Amino acid sequence: MADATSKFYITTPIYYVNARPHIGHAYTTIVCDAIARRQRMLGNDTYFLTGTDEHGQKIERSANAAGKSPQQFTDEVAAEFKSLWDRMGISYDKFIRTTSDEHKRGVQAMFKLLQERGYIYKGSYTGQYCVYDELYVDVDTPGAPCPDCGRPTETVREENYFFKLSALQDELLKLYSAQPDFIRPESRRNEVIAFVRGGLKDLSISRTTFKWGIPVPGDEKHVIYVWLDALCNYITAIGFGQPDAGKQFARYWPADVHMIGKEIVRFHCVYWPAFLIAAGLPLPHNIVAHGWLLFEESKMSKSRGNIVRAETILDVLGGDALRYFLMREVVFGQDGSFSFDALVQRFNSDLANGLGNLASRTLSMITRYFQGQVPYPSAAAARTPAEEAIEKLATQTIGDFNQLWDAFQMSRALESAWALVGAVDKYIVETQPWAVADKQDEDSRSRLATILYTAAEALRIVTALAHPVIPESTARIWAQLGLGDISKFKLRDLKWGQLPVSTKLEKVEGVFPRADKSAIERMQTMEQERQATAAPAAVQEPAGTGAQAGQPATQAAAGATAQAAPSAPAPANNYIGIEDFMKVELRVGEVKTAEKVEKADKLLKLTVDIGTEVRTIVAGIAKAYEPEKLIGRKVVIVANLAPRKLRGIESQGMIVAASLGEEGSPALAGFHEDVPVGARLK
Ligand SMILES: [Zn+2]
Repeated sequence: MADATSKFYITTPIYYVNARPHIGHAYTTIVCDAIARRQRMLGNDTYFLTGTDEHGQKIERSANAAGKSPQQFTDEVAAEFKSLWDRMGISYDKFIRTTSDEHKRGVQAMFKLLQERGYIYKGSYTGQYCVYDELYVDVDTPGAPCPDCGRPTETVREENYFFKLSALQDELLKLYSAQPDFIRPESRRNEVIAFVRGGLKDLSISRTTFKWGIPVPGDEKHVIYVWLDALCNYITAIGFGQPDAGKQFARYWPADVHMIGKEIVRFHCVYWPAFLIAAGLPLPHNIVAHGWLLFEESKMSKSRGNIVRAETILDVLGGDALRYFLMREVVFGQDGSFSFDALVQRFNSDLANGLGNLASRTLSMITRYFQGQVPYPSAAAARTPAEEAIEKLATQTIGDFNQLWDAFQMSRALESAWALVGAVDKYIVETQPWAVADKQDEDSRSRLATILYTAAEALRIVTALAHPVIPESTARIWAQLGLGDISKFKLRDLKWGQLPVSTKLEKVEGVFPRADKSAIERMQTMEQERQATAAPAAVQEPAGTGAQAGQPATQAAAGATAQAAPSAPAPANNYIGIEDFMKVELRVGEVKTAEKVEKADKLLKLTVDIGTEVRTIVAGIAKAYEPEKLIGRKVVIVANLAPRKLRGIESQGMIVAASLGEEGSPALAGFHEDVPVGARLK
């Protein structure tokens, strides 16, 4: 993936701030981070960009709903993304925000450039507009459902600026055939070619229906279409359109890799190169689309309540566990499945029992038998075919790993490195160094040195290869091997036999403590508690505002993307019969006692009188309500919800509350009239 030049520029999509960061965003970002780290280890001048996409009507509406200004709203969510990436040690060089001044200047410069080059004209447009997807859709009937998301469209007539996309159809087709790996994988490339062959219409690139965007230069009642705005981040971040940053732009542009989720392929592979061609700018080398991250085989979505946060995994197993799992388990380009069980299983088999065990047994034996100094590998005399085989396999692994990684087959690259781990484990079992150590003669000593050198050298090679994927733990193993700072190591030079003899090992410590069953439970509980907090209620945001979930107006990532095309019917059409509603037993209750739940800052434990009995209910409302102020308050509860355990307390029902804003801050449902305890709502 690196070309002959020594610069390497990689970008994540910029994440839409209408959704909070979750494991889907983390996946995309981790993949880019690992690629960037490897490029740096190879000695390439690497620039890694990520950031947030902050404009558009949906943000404006979500901010209003949360009672915040759009800027305040986007500041908060952008800060959350940034702090999660920082916590995960994501090695980005820049975090771009589309509300920054430099970005605005750059986008306006791009608009002017396209105008000067004759690619923009003013026209008027009447069409059906999907607010959720922020685009005009190809339907005729006013109010007809959006073909993408199924939500009702709005008829919009506006004077717009148009981009002459239709004029670029042939150029784009030429590009796809001249540069076959412009779009990866192949399946996405074929989709794009078919779409462009089907004919391109000019693209409306301004809006007058809302304000939250970048004004069209010289015609400020228009704001620039969010996609033109957002896509430009890849050039504005490195100085395009800035008075003084031309050098950086000249150094890094064009991008080597734009990493994207599969649902935003059209925007990146059709519109973006079209804008660049029209502007006379060079085109990126690779646009690489990954699949979606599913949860236990089904799509993650806010309405299903199965979105997993990265923080939960960081808290329990650490960042490297998450990184390794996602890079190893998800076949890049295809949809992958996440589950806590699979995560823990993979962690134990590959990291705790695999690499971790190899490191600790090898290094401990060197410490014990050779006073912590890498022993001298005897010449031919003490070498057997077993050592030859390990050396050969290690050399082959280095080559295979490089080749697979460069073809974006990162999971197979890791598989090949872990095949070496397995082979060395087997080698140790078969050569039994502990038995050899029992014999004191010269030959046995020499044999023992050879075995332990061979194991340590293989360990060094796997550690170097795996470093971009599991940076924290490999840095520790590297240091324990006595090799110092792994970030100084030049990966290009990696080959068998470089481990210096007599290297003094550092103190040997386990790097991956084995995870037991309770790790799964802990992570599940943390997620359940969060969901009890975030969505306590039957009342959700109004359908059709787009506030529902991770609309990838721009760049939802893996999991969020999953929400882009809900598999369930759209909320607006999703009727249930009265008999279904009547299955839910809603009753008026009165809070008798309320107390905080220990070690859970969002949970309150309540006892609620529902007329016939007093129930214990755990509710995620502690951030919004003081316990003592709730006593005597009438609330609405779902009385026939199956009991579930939260922090060891059985919760016998659920309290109904509105969920406000993106944080889902709760407001309890109640009555203006005096209602008796136990009354049923219907
Ligand atoms: Zn739609």
